[in-house]
Amino acid sequence: MNLATPPAAHDYAAELADVKARVHVAEAMAGRAGSGVQILVATKAWAADAAVGAVRAGARLVGESRMQELADKGESLRDAGAVVHVIGQLQRNKAAIAVEYAACVQTVDSLKLAERLSRLCVEAQRDLQVMIQVNVSGEESKAGVAPEDALALAAQVQALPALEVVGFMTIGLNSPVEADVRAGYARLREIRDQALISSERGAIDLSSAWHLSMGMSGDLEWAIAEGATMVRVGTAVMGDRP
Ligand SMILES: *Cc1c(COP(=O)(O)O)cnc(C)c1O
Repeated sequence: MNLATPPAAHDYAAELADVKARVHVAEAMAGRAGSGVQILVATKAWAADAAVGAVRAGARLVGESRMQELADKGESLRDAGAVVHVIGQLQRNKAAIAVEYAACVQTVDSLKLAERLSRLCVEAQRDLQVMIQVNVSGEESKAGVAPEDALALAAQVQALPALEVVGFMTIGLNSPVEADVRAGYARLREIRDQALISSERGAIDLSSAWHLSMGMSGDLEWAIAEGATMVRVGTAVMGDRP
């Protein structure tokens, strides 16, 4: 693996402080001041030293996209006290790497993948948080279950041993048009709200599925306006990817 290290002068703490300020302003603008939107730092393409640099600067939540990179960086991230989420497409034959190092897999979009994760977790005698990845934009290139199938999949996954569905994740539409991007995020929120309401009625058991992981460096304000509980930020903290 040839992963990059940012210039020595890169000030993770300053970049992280800027992102926190953006999040706080966005929360206030959305009437959600103090709602505690979490910042997950996406460290794909960066070497372990760089990822650990972000953790030492206060980024406890780290998102890894590629399992080969997670295998390389996992020990360092664990030693640094990071809580690692898988945010990239997870192939079933790489699921063991996620079970070894991740606290949460945000990219569950099939029952087969969830069943594999569940089996591995039972063997390892551990629990794993998962989110259901939803393709809200309908773009063919994007991973994720179709919006109309998300709730049923979430309920099936929640019923598996050792897995807990903690919410829903999406990669937003890549567009400069605010209304179009926000429509997708609103769709994810509606799915989450349905999960919680159905759980209150006792129809299904998804009361733990309140997270909305949506929004990145370029559009986190729009995601927070639509209810994001966690934003995934790469370049705004780490710098431009090599
Ligand atoms: C890389 C990545 C991000 C962060 O993207 P930036 O634009 O660098 O903030 C967020 N989510 C996922 C799934 C990613 O792969």
